[in-house]
Amino acid sequence: MTDTVPADLATRLIHHAYTPPAGFEAPQPAVHKASTVIFPNVAAVRAREWKDKTSYTYGLHGTPTTYQLEERLATLEGGVQCLLAPSGLAAIATVSLSLLRQGDEVLIPDNAYGPNLALAEVELRHYGIRHQVYDPLDPADLAARISDATRLVWLEAPGSVTLEFPDLAEQLRICRARGVTTVLDNTWGAGLAFAPFDLLGDGSLGVDISVHALTKYPSGGGDVLMGSIITRDEALHLRLKLTHMRLGLGVGANDVEAVLRSLPSLALRYRAHDAAARELASWMGTQAPVAQVLHPALAGSPGHAHWRALCGQAGGPQGAAAGLFSVVIDARHGQDEVDAFCDALRLFRLGYSWGGPMSLVMPYDLPSMRQRATPQLRPGTVVRFAVGLEAVEDLRQDLAQAMAQAFSR
Ligand SMILES: *Cc1c(COP(=O)(O)O)cnc(C)c1O
Repeated sequence: MTDTVPADLATRLIHHAYTPPAGFEAPQPAVHKASTVIFPNVAAVRAREWKDKTSYTYGLHGTPTTYQLEERLATLEGGVQCLLAPSGLAAIATVSLSLLRQGDEVLIPDNAYGPNLALAEVELRHYGIRHQVYDPLDPADLAARISDATRLVWLEAPGSVTLEFPDLAEQLRICRARGVTTVLDNTWGAGLAFAPFDLLGDGSLGVDISVHALTKYPSGGGDVLMGSIITRDEALHLRLKLTHMRLGLGVGANDVEAVLRSLPSLALRYRAHDAAARELASWMGTQAPVAQVLHPALAGSPGHAHWRALCGQAGGPQGAAAGLFSVVIDARHGQDEVDAFCDALRLFRLGYSWGGPMSLVMPYDLPSMRQRATPQLRPGTVVRFAVGLEAVEDLRQDLAQAMAQAFSR
């Protein structure tokens, strides 16, 4: 640009001479929005590197806003590198598509987040990638299924919907001994219940990759979809990043802003969801229609000892757990009664996802979701609750009135 001011107003509004003074600071990071990133000269175009955070090249490859969220999330989970994806499921898919090739095999726990299994059953199979489902409560079963073709093992602690807590440390030792890459869906732990890259606190044992549905607690509002992929190994991160780039995955700056804004209250909210869920879960265990309560911090719940070993000291002597619990409604109550119970709830609303202020409920048809026998579960219908931030006493009364309405016996 020369010093001559263009005559046309349209041009002047685009190429404006004013630059605000540098040095603005506020509690919240700025929201930088861009597809195009402007280079000062051609030398800069040639010199800039998009694969690390030393500069800026294109909106998809990062802005100051996305870099800041990535760094904070890496800190949260004890990782070093972080990629952002447009949903938790997109983060899961990026890992599997990046690390698996034709002829490879991936192992998935029987209580995995359902769409992770669906990805393997349909999309991965199209690419000639096989999968096996392993018993999350039996490390020997996992060990027996690892073969020379196994390239990736998915882990979840606890499992989705039924919340059985596995012996994660033993699972990792088995995978490490066989040289297989491990990836944990860490949405439940959220970086707060345990340290995924340092399970024992002595630097000796951790996962290779942690995937987190930021949609849940990091967003905290029920209004953002986003996922992260966190690693501690530069070469592994680069491999994932190249796939992420080739697939064209990016996140919107306004969504990043929402997560950046919620992160400072993450630990407080997690503790509040946790305390309320434990209170309601314990109380539900005393109610006649309930055959079993599934909550890893409650004695008697499947895998409770493993939860205690891994999360029993996190944040204090009570340990840490998320705001989720499920109940098995006794088999003497039919599907129609369970549906009537869910419909009768007023504060617990019917909806998927969790991590926001509003409490949610969902009945599940477990037999259609599991490939293996589930002797750890009593017969009946599984109903999952995600406890929000309402007053616990109001939620208890809501559960009581809905049970009184729906369960005649
Ligand atoms: C919600 C969830 C996901 C997927 O997150 P989305 O952003 O909804 O795609 C993955 N894993 C677990 C355990 C989840 O609860």
